[in-house]
Amino acid sequence: MTEIRISGGAVHDPANDVDGAIRDVCLKDGTVVDDVGPEARRIDARGMVVMAGGVDIHAHIAGPTVNAARKLSPEERRGEPLDRTDVLRSGTGGLVPSTFATGYRYSLLGYTTVVEAAAPPLAARHVLSELRDTPMIDKAFLILMGNNQVLFELIRRSAGAVSAELRDAVAWWLDATGGYGVKLVNPGGVERWKQDNGNVHSLDDVVDGFGVTPRQVLEAIGGAVDGLGLPHPVHVHANNLGVPGNADTTLDTMRTLSGRQAHLAHLQFHSYGGKPGGRGGGLMSRAPELIEYLSSHPELTADVGQVMFGPAVTMTADAAVSAVLRDLGAEEWINHDTEVETGCGIVPYRYRAGNYVHALQWAIGLELFLLGGNPWQVMLSTDHPNGGSFLSYPKLIRLLMDRAFREDQIDRANQRAIRRTALLDGVNREYTLNEIAIITRAAPARRLGLRDKGHLGIGADADVTIYHDRADREEMFATPRYVIKGGEVVVEEGDLRRSDDGVLLSCRAAFDPEVGRVLEPLFGDRYTVAFEHYPVRDRALREPARIVEART
Ligand SMILES: [Zn+2]
Repeated sequence: MTEIRISGGAVHDPANDVDGAIRDVCLKDGTVVDDVGPEARRIDARGMVVMAGGVDIHAHIAGPTVNAARKLSPEERRGEPLDRTDVLRSGTGGLVPSTFATGYRYSLLGYTTVVEAAAPPLAARHVLSELRDTPMIDKAFLILMGNNQVLFELIRRSAGAVSAELRDAVAWWLDATGGYGVKLVNPGGVERWKQDNGNVHSLDDVVDGFGVTPRQVLEAIGGAVDGLGLPHPVHVHANNLGVPGNADTTLDTMRTLSGRQAHLAHLQFHSYGGKPGGRGGGLMSRAPELIEYLSSHPELTADVGQVMFGPAVTMTADAAVSAVLRDLGAEEWINHDTEVETGCGIVPYRYRAGNYVHALQWAIGLELFLLGGNPWQVMLSTDHPNGGSFLSYPKLIRLLMDRAFREDQIDRANQRAIRRTALLDGVNREYTLNEIAIITRAAPARRLGLRDKGHLGIGADADVTIYHDRADREEMFATPRYVIKGGEVVVEEGDLRRSDDGVLLSCRAAFDPEVGRVLEPLFGDRYTVAFEHYPVRDRALREPARIVEART
């Protein structure tokens, strides 16, 4: 295999306490090594910045929801299509690119690992098919478990406690799907909404017909994930997303989870003051309070879900949220039900700088980034494509690193909204390159439990991105000079030179196979799919994969 010596670059590897030191990075057989021979390819990185490949902890890139979003906006797909070449397949562009274009474009930005954050387990075959079809990146998916009627029944039986049965069921589901971790989306709330009981609720409102509450779902499944020792803790999209005043629900969610490891998705969408049911004009920021709580609870982490002005596609398992956006006047809307286990809604959207609510959302995201004391706890995401495309990450990085640019953008946004945030109180923080390396690779990799990713220590995966050190940070992060995936140079000066399949990352935790006897009758009562047909056994979909074992 190729041996590479990257010489003379400024290395930013915060996981190993390296902050801009000029040193060589050597790669051999797909990993970072101590040294390579004189015949190794030499990449002259003098004047350049060297980081591990980017890791996206929360995006939506595969599965039925993503596919439905592609169908909903056919006019989008002509946007910057990719032509077939000797190396590359063709693909369609837009906010929800085809699988090939998704992989290529992440790679062109220097990202080498991406997590699909919301896969209905019933659709695991579809998710796996699309992820297999997404080149260039290593990928994993989180399975949705927050509104699953079979799990509700197990939680009801144990009165919300973490039973051995529940732990075994969670492990069984990961085994059945090839998933990497567990996601809760609006736990209990999607089922409530399906039953027309409304969405806005407290964590103690009972889900009719199931005898469980959102708090019990959080505690029981969060506890099961913890008890199993999964590499990534429970990943939570809290209740009441987007609702004015939802910061109370978010704080309650954090209190419920605290003391145990947990990750909160797209915290920006959950940081609002104002009155529930009130109009958008009453929306306020409560980001400072949430950041303070987070800072004093190191067991909790979050990604921001930054809103970027321009087009977006809201796509979520939180069907209730999509219904609200529809009522606000969406021209197009898809809602579909995934029997027994989750929901789904899609609404194309545009965030406008002059709009009070949108400007407030934008500013709240920046508050979360800029007020947080510990970058290891607050990771970069736009909840692609909900707050904007992953293609806007370079611009977001510039907003964090370049105060003059940020102030110019603040001036262009709705000033009534900006005045109600902390952004005018002299927030002059500028992220350093090391802090950018933390929020875009080191922290997400560590939080995902991917020990070989997000850093450049000996034995790490040879996923490396090399940037020109440009004053314009947006341009710098949009066009890496080199991207190396698995020890091979795949991007040079903005050109894809080589295709790579990437690896599926799956997690395995031990469970008592007797749990099948518990699950089978519950499946029989509810699913239209027979229990025996539910697990994905197709080897072409499941293998090869890198299996990350749970701790226990
Ligand atoms: Zn999301």
